[in-house]
Amino acid sequence: AKQAGKNAYQFFTDEMQNEVASELALENALRIAVKKNEFQLYFQPKVHAKTHQVLGTEALIRWASPSEGFLSPDVFIPKAEEMGLIHPIGTWVLEQGTKMLKEWQDKGYVNERHTIAINLSMRQLMHKDLIDIISNVLKKSKLAPECLELEITESIMMVNSVQTISILNAISELGVKIAIDDFGTGYSSLSYLRLLPIHTIKVDRSFVQVIGIDNGDAIVKTIISLGNNLGLTIVAEGAESPEQVTFLTENNVDLIQGFYFSKPLPLEEYIKYLKVDR
Ligand code: C2E
Ligand code: CA
Ligand code: CA
Ligand code: CA
Repeated sequence: AKQAGKNAYQFFTDEMQNEVASELALENALRIAVKKNEFQLYFQPKVHAKTHQVLGTEALIRWASPSEGFLSPDVFIPKAEEMGLIHPIGTWVLEQGTKMLKEWQDKGYVNERHTIAINLSMRQLMHKDLIDIISNVLKKSKLAPECLELEITESIMMVNSVQTISILNAISELGVKIAIDDFGTGYSSLSYLRLLPIHTIKVDRSFVQVIGIDNGDAIVKTIISLGNNLGLTIVAEGAESPEQVTFLTENNVDLIQGFYFSKPLPLEEYIKYLKVDR
């Protein structure tokens, strides 16, 4: 019994050591990634439901680490937040994203209504220099502010409301649009929709997935009519099937984003996608 106990203890510490070691390896790799700029932006089209015209794109970061391999942003973005590295990474995403859209506009690949949506995490939103960073990025890229949309998750609305309100108002005064990402998953009061300068809600994929199942239809319809009654633009995320696309279109969603139309694409492929006549 003593022997087994000792082994169990040994096993536990080995596992802990391995975990610490791999965390450290990830942190080191992330520091190197920022220094060497190992990131890439992918672009996923947002398609006008009624006409299938591409009216916007969401920029999604990708990281292929030479030492760690491909890691999902769901894994390394929270880590970057913890380490404070989200600021250089986030600024790069803003710079790169606005620069790309301006280039597509200048080359005539997109019309002037085409927007780019960029995700902002909690720490980015709360950064004291955020407004300066955004206005610098707009100046540098010469992109019209209305073409930039910042996606923030609904859960941000639950915390630090006084500061959140003033930041969102400042962003909106720049002419930049604000979208609520993962809408419906944040369990927050809906009153912020009326109090804050929100332009767009993005219906979370978990709702789109239950279209045609149980009372999924009723929930999605309710979210859409809430958004429409408030005069918001409604984007549905994660549409994969023709049934979902038909349902969303018939129920007056403005824009649809999802694998049904396209996965997130690297730059060259996204440009090809834009050039296809639809
Ligand atoms: P998100 O903002 O909710 O992004 C949507 C995610 O859903 C993306 O995952 C996208 O690839 C995926 N997706 C889109 N359409 C479909 C579909 O039809 N089916 C399925 N199964 N998935 C679909 P991705 O690119 O792995 O990003 C994960 C999360 O990482 C994002 O969730 C966002 O929270 C975060 N993220 C990505 N890029 C950035 C960034 O540049 N900055 C920050 N702060 N966060 C980012
Ligand atoms: Ca998003
Ligand atoms: Ca989302
Ligand atoms: Ca999400």
